[in-house]
Amino acid sequence: PRVVTQDADAEERAAESALRPTSLAELVGQTRVRDQLDLVLQAARRRGTAPDHVLLSGPPGLGKTTLALIIGAEMSAPVRVTSGPAIQHAGDLAAILSSLAEGEVLFLDEIHRMSRPAEEMLYLAMEDFRVDVVVGKGPGATAIPLELPRFTLVGATTRSGLLPAPLRDRFGFTAHLDFYSPVELDELLHRSARLLGIELDQDASTEIAGRSRGTPRIANRLLRRVRDWAQVHGGGRIDLAAARAALELYDVDEAGLDRLDRAVLQALCTRFGGGPVGLATLAVSVGEETETVETVVEPFLVREGLLLRTPRGRAATPQAWAHLGLTPPRPTPG
Ligand code: ADP
Repeated sequence: PRVVTQDADAEERAAESALRPTSLAELVGQTRVRDQLDLVLQAARRRGTAPDHVLLSGPPGLGKTTLALIIGAEMSAPVRVTSGPAIQHAGDLAAILSSLAEGEVLFLDEIHRMSRPAEEMLYLAMEDFRVDVVVGKGPGATAIPLELPRFTLVGATTRSGLLPAPLRDRFGFTAHLDFYSPVELDELLHRSARLLGIELDQDASTEIAGRSRGTPRIANRLLRRVRDWAQVHGGGRIDLAAARAALELYDVDEAGLDRLDRAVLQALCTRFGGGPVGLATLAVSVGEETETVETVVEPFLVREGLLLRTPRGRAATPQAWAHLGLTPPRPTPG
């Protein structure tokens, strides 16, 4: 299995929730977003109202769900969790909205995947705290307005550019979560190790942090796998040797690239001569969905200086060739 895959199974989710910070103060990194959000929430608390709707964007595993739950906790409000793909009909959304309590936080993950009619219903709900429930069919159908309690929508998306502007504009606070630095991930790993009762050497933590793709979810997951290794092969304590051996076993390379990252780079360099090549073509050649390559793989490769987004398509950088141990083709003269 790909240790760095983004889909969580039940066991994974349980392990994750055990490590989730429950207040803004406990959050590691993202200091700017934390401070901005802190202000929004404090002001709302003083006014005694639900805070403005919040839009969080960024690659998977960077803390969007965590932040939504923290917003609920900081407001002492319950949090309802749902996702775009779960809302296929406007009626699904109407049912959720009409059952919200005053001040409740509605976390809508993958909000860009909601159906069109549901999206339009959401505009009205966000702005006027009202939905029009259509009763009957055909010419006899009537829209009955239904008052909603004041709630806070927390929308999450892997890329805010995937959202139609009218929806984006209805959020009072928008934050983009960026990849974490190795220093932040190191801090996060020490926190997780403490919570899990694991002894973690500093050089081992540095090693894991550097290979976690800038992503808390991956850092925590690698920590658990390294712990497995240390418990089976060593005395349970995580030292550098244990960290390296386990990371090797799980196919994470020194730069933190996983198999899919490398597959994309490999295809780009060997099949398309380093590009530029269109995103869709590149995605097909590695058997992945375009959206996955665009929102999960690319942001990291771009940040690492391995891939360029050009107007004519995706291109490999000299570092990408070097990373794969390949020699770039010589530029054709003329
Ligand atoms: P997303 O919703 O963006 O996919 P999550 O909020 O589910 O990501 O975060 C994935 C895991 O990473 C969670 O288990 C959480 O414990 C951890 N995590 C994410 N961000 C942070 C953070 N800033 N500080 C500490 N842990 C974090």
